[in-house]
Amino acid sequence: MSRYFSLSQLQPYTPGEQPRSRDYIKLNTNENPYPPAPAVRNLLNPSAVADLRLYSDPACRGLKEKLAGLYGLTPEQIFVANGSDDILNFVFWGFPGEKGAVFPDITYGFYKVFAGLHQVPYREIPLRADFSLNPRDYYHQKSLIVIANPNAPTGLALTPGEIQGILDTNQDSLVVIDEAYVDFGAESCYPLLSQYENLLVVRTFSKSRCLAGGRLGYALGNPSVIADLERLKFSTNPYALNRLTLALGEATVAEEAYYQKISRKIQKTRENTEKALKSLGFLVIPSLGNFLFARRPGISGENLYQSLKEKAILVRHFPQERIGEYVRITIGTDEQMEKLTAALEEICHENSPD
Ligand code: PMP
Repeated sequence: MSRYFSLSQLQPYTPGEQPRSRDYIKLNTNENPYPPAPAVRNLLNPSAVADLRLYSDPACRGLKEKLAGLYGLTPEQIFVANGSDDILNFVFWGFPGEKGAVFPDITYGFYKVFAGLHQVPYREIPLRADFSLNPRDYYHQKSLIVIANPNAPTGLALTPGEIQGILDTNQDSLVVIDEAYVDFGAESCYPLLSQYENLLVVRTFSKSRCLAGGRLGYALGNPSVIADLERLKFSTNPYALNRLTLALGEATVAEEAYYQKISRKIQKTRENTEKALKSLGFLVIPSLGNFLFARRPGISGENLYQSLKEKAILVRHFPQERIGEYVRITIGTDEQMEKLTAALEEICHENSPD
């Protein structure tokens, strides 16, 4: 009985809505509005499906070799898993520090869930009033450190130089930099891997690689950390990555130019959307992600979310201290963002005092 009681205490993650109807403009879970590259789309032919009778390669050698080539690393420095959530789960399970874990008070909501799941004591370090992160707050922590860079849902980013200070002062702890959104304008810190054994860079194919539904993530790190992650994977589900997803991942790595092009396009759309929102009186955090975090004085975050939903546009609202007045808006196509802006214009008009 006590076992069930303890599970009932678990606070699971609440994912963004995934409506079954396609009638919404879906700007709520930071997916890419563009499809995967043509070479990736054409991969799922009948022979690939016929091959599903065979198990996948549990070592994921093909994909690791391709990623190693892309980053100038060795396959032993690379771990791949079912989305970066899977990697973060392993991290909290296998690498809690002497004092547990630390992460910002406003960040990706799953960190807290994983800490709870693995009963890792954690401390949430408050971001500054403007939601920026003070790197010095993370010095000498004796804890697993997890930082999303750019952060979610704010989109603000640290430079590799700032992260270096955190790595220098936490040589006995694992410092995890979650780069889910790094391809939309921030600078990756993976080049620091040659200097720091305590760095683990976590990446995903879900955002800039248009494969959220494929479930594919990877981590770049020191070979001994990667070997420990493999141990955890081989102790749970060695074939977790299916053959189709592995094939899609390999083809994706070969299409780097296509994905860089659409990432640049999304950045341009983000700039235009930011301007449009500001002209409607929104306060917008300068984001380096594929989303904007914004509020409109005079209209609550809940009201913005509901009013947009009534107009068939889904955004994300977090009913949480400090950020309850904000909505997070994923950057879609130019056409989708024009519809968003038109809807917001109406909502602002409906809510104007005169
Ligand atoms: N990290 C951050 C900061 C995220 O926002 C997300 C997506 N919700 C993830 C990790 C997980 O992404 P995935 O499991 O799709 O790779």
